[in-house]
Amino acid sequence: MSTSWKDRSAKVQVKETDLPSSIPPQTGLVFNIWYNKWSQGQSGQTRFVSPFRLDTNVHPGITLGDRQGAEFFCLYFAKGMCCLGKKCRYMHHVPEDEDALRLAAKTDVLDCFGREKFAFYRDDMGGVGSFRKRNRTLYVGGINAALANRSLKSVQIETRLRVLFSNLGELDKLRFVESKNCAFIKFKRQCNAEFAKEVISNQTLLIPSDKQWGDRLQMTGLMVKWANDDPDPRAQKAEEEEQKQESINLMTHLLEKHKKELRSELSTGLIDNNPTKKSPSRIFSNELLEKLRKRKVCVNEKSEKRQRIAPQKKPLVDYPSSPEDE
Ligand SMILES: [Zn+2]
Repeated sequence: MSTSWKDRSAKVQVKETDLPSSIPPQTGLVFNIWYNKWSQGQSGQTRFVSPFRLDTNVHPGITLGDRQGAEFFCLYFAKGMCCLGKKCRYMHHVPEDEDALRLAAKTDVLDCFGREKFAFYRDDMGGVGSFRKRNRTLYVGGINAALANRSLKSVQIETRLRVLFSNLGELDKLRFVESKNCAFIKFKRQCNAEFAKEVISNQTLLIPSDKQWGDRLQMTGLMVKWANDDPDPRAQKAEEEEQKQESINLMTHLLEKHKKELRSELSTGLIDNNPTKKSPSRIFSNELLEKLRKRKVCVNEKSEKRQRIAPQKKPLVDYPSSPEDE
């Protein structure tokens, strides 16, 4: 995955005048209504291929949101239709490790776009998802239709899926189930699954060299939902362990990166090594550390030790609690 988005401004993906007039103006996080109407359809009607598409090589970049410390990603960006570009108050890049860790503290109630999760999945497993459990696996349906019923080999279809999804975060597993015309795509991080779900919904599996490419907008797009749990309790247990391990791996990775950065800052004299001064950048907020402690994930962050407050000494004299007591 390219990281060069940090060196450039986010591109405008679509001119405001090119957006369909039925879409309300981009005023913040109030896009659920049109999203539901637009993407999944009201009563199971055809999912037309979206005329917009995120190009991960071209579109990502720094936004106003990055400079203002935004926490969430732009849903319009994910759908390839943000007309604000660098002026957007949300982030315009594919979620990375730093984002995953920051979002980990909130991911139980909000998705990576800042939308509230609900206690239960929608009956059709669409929508934002549930806060009751973590899920990193997407179900992708309507594959033959998204290929305009071209007969491709199973391995070719899998390759196309891999190309589409691997640009949107590190994949854990990808499986195309030919007999069921669907695929399961498991990401390493939940936020990438949340992100990819929006990016790929209603996209085509055709590629420019297919002769049907020109007519793709009249065809049916992919349907992307949350995958159901594997009912096998052993699989569930393994999943739980895997997630715990993944959190640890992520933190170790970030700590190493943080240490390296600190060392280079120290060596270049950007910061002086005076322990009485405020400690330099911290990567874990107290809120997150508390959360991780609850999840029984140990964090051994050196800067934590420096921050620890000395235990309060007991007062030598016990004063009466208040003057009224006398
Ligand atoms: Zn945006």
